[in-house]
Amino acid sequence: MPALILDRLTKLYGTHAAVESLSLTVDDGEFLVLLGPSGCGKTTTLRMIAGFVEASDGRVSLGGRDITQEPPHRRNIGVVFQNYALFPHLSVFENVAFGLRRRKRPEAEIKERVTRALGLVRLESFAERMPKQMSGGQQQRVAIARALVIEPDILLLDEPLSALDAKLRHEVRQELKALQRLLGIATILVTHDQDEAMSLGDRLVVMNAGKVEQIGTPQALYRRPASRFVAGFIGRGNFLEGSGQGRQFTTNNGWTLEAERSFDGVQTLMLRPEALAMAAAAGPGRVPARVSLVTYLGPIAEVALDLPGGDRLLVEQASGGWLDRTAPGQDVWVEIPPDAIIGLDADGLARA
Ligand code: ATP
Repeated sequence: MPALILDRLTKLYGTHAAVESLSLTVDDGEFLVLLGPSGCGKTTTLRMIAGFVEASDGRVSLGGRDITQEPPHRRNIGVVFQNYALFPHLSVFENVAFGLRRRKRPEAEIKERVTRALGLVRLESFAERMPKQMSGGQQQRVAIARALVIEPDILLLDEPLSALDAKLRHEVRQELKALQRLLGIATILVTHDQDEAMSLGDRLVVMNAGKVEQIGTPQALYRRPASRFVAGFIGRGNFLEGSGQGRQFTTNNGWTLEAERSFDGVQTLMLRPEALAMAAAAGPGRVPARVSLVTYLGPIAEVALDLPGGDRLLVEQASGGWLDRTAPGQDVWVEIPPDAIIGLDADGLARA
């Protein structure tokens, strides 16, 4: 039985549907990520699950129980917000103990559970500190301990890492993933950061304008996007518009690409920048191009190439070697391996 089922969940603000007929399941122990651009309805979905926002239609069931009408404190859900939302006048210990005190647990049990929860986030020795005496990353770990201490049926995380700086975000991300695996707790995380989504989620739910665009593993969404929106949102892509016939695809700019496959029905080619390879000399399967911009990023370099006819390709390469001496205006070749090509039909669906 899945841990959580959303069945045609809908939220209307006036006539505007912030979330429209959203259905999904979260399995026991699964880490699900809701991903999408600002305003697509991620937070509203999370808030309906937590009970902070009343659903206009549809149902939420948790552990087989319909909780759609239940108030938040009866749902046994742990929530972590972007801004930590710790109580500033309470110590770390009392912040974490809060949910247990509300549930009127005996003092000895509170002490034991709070100590264990702080141990999980490696903050045992910080119990007596006040939130303002701690760093952002530490405060967020307190918030995570506070959400976990009640042994929730599901953990909801609303952009929990976005207030942290880049290095800390990466550290807390690893910790969060390890903790979620260790506890095996069903988790939903909301983010607009695709790297975060890909690295944390067992499955991702890509949302757009209140609706689900696609649900799948990071690999499935990356390899076989179900729409142009997903293709553009997950990873980066070069998009070439045109039309395919037989083994040829001709872009609107008149550049033709040939491959050992059928392009019938394909209207857009998506080429992943990291799957393309630049070469210094001509060779089979290579097309001539001219360098227009080189952006050095340490381990990799991004190279913008102009193709005959006016199409442009962005290529991502491991830096070093002759690439470090490549400059705008230089004539090079680009190799397009068959598995770098994802053909999209008129509906944006990936074609094999
Ligand atoms: P972000 O990443 O910016 O937080 P989001 O994907 O979480 O965005 P939501 O906050 O769920 O998006 O908002 C979805 C839509 O619902 C938006 O168009 C938003 O303006 C609208 N909305 C959210 N809350 C309310 C409200 N209380 N009243 C009216 N409209 C709202």
